[in-house]
Amino acid sequence: EAKAKGRNTYHFYSQELNAAANERLFIENELRVAIKAKQFIIYYQPQVDSRTQQVVGYEALIRWFHPTEGMIPPTKFIPIAEATGLIVELGAWVLQEACEFAARLAMQGRENNISINLSARQFKDAKLVPLLASIIKKTKVPAKCLHLELTESMLMGNVEAAISQLHQLKTLGVSISIDDFGTGYSSLSYLKRFPVDILKVDRSFVKDIPDDPNDMEITAAIIAMAQKLKLNVVAEGVETIEQVEFLQNNNCFIVQGYYYSAPIPESELSNLFEKLNERAGS
Ligand code: C2E
Ligand code: MG
Ligand code: MG
Ligand code: MG
Repeated sequence: EAKAKGRNTYHFYSQELNAAANERLFIENELRVAIKAKQFIIYYQPQVDSRTQQVVGYEALIRWFHPTEGMIPPTKFIPIAEATGLIVELGAWVLQEACEFAARLAMQGRENNISINLSARQFKDAKLVPLLASIIKKTKVPAKCLHLELTESMLMGNVEAAISQLHQLKTLGVSISIDDFGTGYSSLSYLKRFPVDILKVDRSFVKDIPDDPNDMEITAAIIAMAQKLKLNVVAEGVETIEQVEFLQNNNCFIVQGYYYSAPIPESELSNLFEKLNERAGS
């Protein structure tokens, strides 16, 4: 009897594992197709100065519209793209698209910062710097508009190599942001050694403001520390006016989140400006 039960349990787990493995395999196979079939599009989420309601930049966030599965979120496919190495090609496409977008904005006299997420593999790639240099040259994007987003864990593995890569990237004229700041395990003393420009306060600290006093303390401390280190700070995942006000009271004015706008395709930017203008006027 025990044996039968054990077998059932095994069967149960193996079915779950199978389902997960199958989904992974499905996504991996479909990713190869999707890259060729151009099923991706970049959405842009505005970063707004809460004092003026002016858009100061955008984060480029990839979207995959699969012909039968619908939208597959990046949290589902980016890790698989990373593990299989497909991220290198996909990431190069994101860089190209986002730089073209930034160049279009600059041409229209609406020069804005564009933040682009880099994956660990992309960041380590020796070809990243020459690739970005060539994209900057071809698209004529002002390099100072580009902000590359990295996470703490990407800097912590091989610290010397990371510092050297960051210096090379900065030679191109771009800025460096630390994404999801506070969720990794970088020590503060290390942070000073990296030539970074911006800290992005992770959404997990912002989302329970004003209900969670600990999160409020942490958020305030991150902002204060960023200021001491002369880094700019952007708050992520801002959804309410209370959060905007808390951040303002703690000297963080650049915010990104659903309160202002979800990520949107380029075609919806004019609607966004209308909405922000109305808000600024009211
Ligand atoms: P991230 O870089 O931290 O991006 C912020 C995520 O928070 C985005 O999710 C965005 O849609 C979401 N978000 C923004 N404001 C709010 C808000 O007010 N409330 C809530 N609940 N969520 C908000 P998304 O677009 O699903 O992307 C998830 C992650 O996937 C990104 O986190 C990033 O790590 C990765 N990712 C997205 N696009 C790319 C890309 O082109 N390349 C790489 N390497 N990674 C990417
Ligand atoms: Mg990001
Ligand atoms: Mg983030
Ligand atoms: Mg994140």
